[in-house]
Amino acid sequence: VPETFKEHRAGSKIRILPDIVASQIAAGEVVERPVAVVKELVENSLDAGSHRIDVSFDDGGRKFIRVDDNGSGMCPDDALLSLERHATSKLRDASDLSQIHSFGFRGEALPSIASVSRFTMKTRAEGWTEGTEIFVDNGRIVSTKAVGMPRGTRIEVNQLFESVPARRKFLKSDRTESAHIILCCRLLALAHPEVSFSLAENGRLVFRSPACKSLEERVTEVFGRQWMEDLSPVCADLEGLHFHGLLSRPGKGRTSRAELFWFANLRPVENRTLSGSVIDACKGFIAKGSFPAGILFIDVDPAAIDVNVHPAKREIRLRDEARVRAFVTDAVLANMEKLARENAAKIIGPGRSAVSETPRPAIVPRIVRPAALQSDAKVAGLPAKAPAASSGFAPLQRKVIPTAASRNSESQSGGTPVSREIHAAPSDNLPARWRYIGFSHGSFILFETPDGILVVNRVTALIRILYEDYMKSLSAGRIVTQALLFPRLFSLRPSAAEALENNIEFFQACGFGVENFGADSFRVTCLPVWFRDEGCEEFIRSAAEKILENGIRPDRDENLARDTFARLAAIHAARVETPPDEEAALDLARRLFACRNPLADPKGNPTFVELSKNKLTGKS
Ligand code: ADP
Ligand code: MG
Repeated sequence: VPETFKEHRAGSKIRILPDIVASQIAAGEVVERPVAVVKELVENSLDAGSHRIDVSFDDGGRKFIRVDDNGSGMCPDDALLSLERHATSKLRDASDLSQIHSFGFRGEALPSIASVSRFTMKTRAEGWTEGTEIFVDNGRIVSTKAVGMPRGTRIEVNQLFESVPARRKFLKSDRTESAHIILCCRLLALAHPEVSFSLAENGRLVFRSPACKSLEERVTEVFGRQWMEDLSPVCADLEGLHFHGLLSRPGKGRTSRAELFWFANLRPVENRTLSGSVIDACKGFIAKGSFPAGILFIDVDPAAIDVNVHPAKREIRLRDEARVRAFVTDAVLANMEKLARENAAKIIGPGRSAVSETPRPAIVPRIVRPAALQSDAKVAGLPAKAPAASSGFAPLQRKVIPTAASRNSESQSGGTPVSREIHAAPSDNLPARWRYIGFSHGSFILFETPDGILVVNRVTALIRILYEDYMKSLSAGRIVTQALLFPRLFSLRPSAAEALENNIEFFQACGFGVENFGADSFRVTCLPVWFRDEGCEEFIRSAAEKILENGIRPDRDENLARDTFARLAAIHAARVETPPDEEAALDLARRLFACRNPLADPKGNPTFVELSKNKLTGKS
């Protein structure tokens, strides 16, 4: 400590700390626990352009950590300099901060680690005949000497935190510390498949992976074949954002949310926006209560990530979160839909594309006709159906998607209580070899297929169909409504009444005509044609409550509002539905397999299960 700083004036309380103490304090920030040492050292090896990195540690890292690489190495001067605080080869001035492409830039890791351990560094740069070995004992450089060694750097950290018992006390069990180290190394290895990587704990190999050509290969090396099996690639680009990786296939969720790993510019990160956007987008494709697993990378301009957050933590802050969120959600959703359609196509069988690549209307256009024409009209050779007939699936059959030709007759004049329409040919996307077996337990539609038995859950299937149809007409702005002959009255608790009152236009745009009828009373005057009037007040009440509860603002986030509304409406409509007869059951199955995601309802409940012949005969 320079003399001048020792002679502080009487009364002055501020002192300049000796460098070792300052480094030890900084070490508390940078290296909270053994895993942080491993991370800093491996990142340095990566920054040094290594093709091979070998890590080993003993006793949760508190006794011994070693990182050995074949990177650029350091010349003798740089080796000494690297132990000075704020010595870095990676950053020149503050303006570089926003354009960082290396992992390190603070120049704090090595001096911090060396100040709280018995630290040995051996390093040799290209072009030097000898390497340098430096030994530092808890911040004091004890010796430097020349050594023979191949190019690269080997750092050994012994007795971490020996000199700072306060830190040592905060460490968890060896097993916990070791679990952190192992996960950290796995993630770093995943982010750099091109680098050969090994990890050993107490002399036992945890994993070893040669340089890999693809992420898939690396994932298989690091997590095992089985873990890789349920994942499939995903990839998308949008102005300056590149997103790619591997993610659970539809229907292949995991019980824990801890198996989804994100990397931003190749750093393992934790960020609610990123993980939330994937979990949200997977809803409806992965069973309720399970979570997507995956290894996902997002590359953004370094300036779009806040680099000044805690050095030891994995949390990051993204500028423009909303944009990234929407981008990731869209990409995952599109991928899930594509895979779900492929799955459905497999079930339907070869040669029968159930659904085309580009989404087409799940419902074949039907034509609204005045009642008078109904009786003898035939379209595409199908017999006309009586409106609101008791054929078991009235709401589906009442659904109207207006076509240009039918515009004129869309409005339901004269207070006609039900719509009048005629069926066109249903989309013929069920294979002829499927045989309808029957209907069981009030819920299940059974088919015999060439491969086994297919059990369709009529409620979740119907929810899926209604939800997709309704979403489609909502975004097209084409909701056909029917006026109620007798408007239905209902009242709400005051706060829900206010929520409804404030959003009455949104309800109208969704096809639900609601009017205030004094105080907290309302009346429903019209409904979308596919929506049964029975219990419609109950639905409107629950929609108003949901809007209130979730603080949904249709004027701000129209998509979210519509989605919530359509889910509720579909669930409600499916519940009041009566069981199907054979024809309606077939129709339901056809519509289901024409959906964008036929595998599950919007909440993720499966719409069908397949019992393969092999399974039934106990062969698999
Ligand atoms: P930072 O990584 O933030 O620059 P560090 O304290 O981690 O700071 O490292 C200081 C410097 O030491 C680095 O900038 C780099 O020049 C050098 N260095 C550290 N580790 C290695 C290594 N494994 N191979 C080559 N150079 C290294
Ligand atoms: Mg570093």
